[in-house]
Amino acid sequence: MNLVLCLTEQCNLRCTYCYYKESQADRKTVMDDATLEQAIKIALDRTIFFRQSYLNITFFGGEPLLRRDAIYKGVEFAKAIVDDAMDKGKISKNFKLQFAVNTNATLFDDEFFDFCEREKFRIYLSLDGPEHHHDIARRTVNNTGSFKAIEKHIPRFVKLGAVALSTVTRAHVSTLFESVKWLHEQGFQSLTTSVDFDGKWSGEDFDKLALQYQKMADYWRECREKGDKFFLGTIHDKVKIRLINSRYRLYSCHVYNGAIGVATNGNMFPCTRFITSNPNTHYVQGNVFTGFDEAACDKIRVFLDNDKKECEGCDIRYRCCAHECACTSYYTTGTIEGVSPEVCTHERMLAEICDTLLEKMA
Ligand code: SF4
Ligand code: SF4
Ligand code: SF4
Repeated sequence: MNLVLCLTEQCNLRCTYCYYKESQADRKTVMDDATLEQAIKIALDRTIFFRQSYLNITFFGGEPLLRRDAIYKGVEFAKAIVDDAMDKGKISKNFKLQFAVNTNATLFDDEFFDFCEREKFRIYLSLDGPEHHHDIARRTVNNTGSFKAIEKHIPRFVKLGAVALSTVTRAHVSTLFESVKWLHEQGFQSLTTSVDFDGKWSGEDFDKLALQYQKMADYWRECREKGDKFFLGTIHDKVKIRLINSRYRLYSCHVYNGAIGVATNGNMFPCTRFITSNPNTHYVQGNVFTGFDEAACDKIRVFLDNDKKECEGCDIRYRCCAHECACTSYYTTGTIEGVSPEVCTHERMLAEICDTLLEKMA
């Protein structure tokens, strides 16, 4: 089970591509202790009910390090109830409790690094690339770049095996490959890029992106041939799913195996992009205090079990984010059933590059 806890909707940055950006000023809520504990309890109960062998808890925001106190409390509480469930024989002694944090990295210090090291946190760090690339979109509330606040910590992030997440907008596209290479050269061994689909990508933008992906694919292949296990998710996932003849939902979608995203007010959602404390929203799966709304959960199950009509017969549908990822569909079209023409174009282009790469690697 994967539990994502939105500890706060507040953030110390104002990234131009933030999916909260339209409502940034209204997002002031934080998760209280009772909600935090109840969310962890309900996730563990669900994990036990589904006889799963692990619980991953991700601290999320806004910027979760604005609620460092809540992260510490959450970890202690989760460890205590997992120990109790083990003592009572509800879960096996091999049960795995794991923690992660999704962060903009600007508020890290030695104390928090030590804590992450001690608790074996998986760190997902938003870092778009070198300063000139990163600071295009990742701005502070005062509209200055945020790179300088992260730079000094890069070696420690690398030492802890942090995963770098780099977002690509139309303004970043020409320097994408250079940034990926730079991140790898800093020592990041795990990195994924994702596109900010804003409905404005033109054919020319996609041509530029295809060129960058081509360079990334060649670079990744060269690394692998040299024995470097560099994980470049953008390319690796598409190649791997094709090779093992699987589908994205089974390979890496947490929703399929059970995921709960909890908003500051305790409302539960199927994945990260849906999470909001705004009551006028879609796909609420219940509330941590009142339990799951099974009818709402069923809608997600139906989505997961069926192919999209628009994609009937498309060879790449099981590798396509527009088809497989509920979050991508939701944020690009407003519904999980929708298909964004922009994502469709992107996925076809990337699949072709990855298929050609596979032929070269055969
Ligand atoms: S760090 Fe994340 S939450 Fe904060 S403004 Fe940037 S994208 Fe939004
Ligand atoms: S819905 Fe999309 S973002 Fe969420 S876990 Fe599945 S693939 Fe990942
Ligand atoms: S590439 Fe287009 S048609 Fe094919 S699965 Fe994706 S969205 Fe559907």
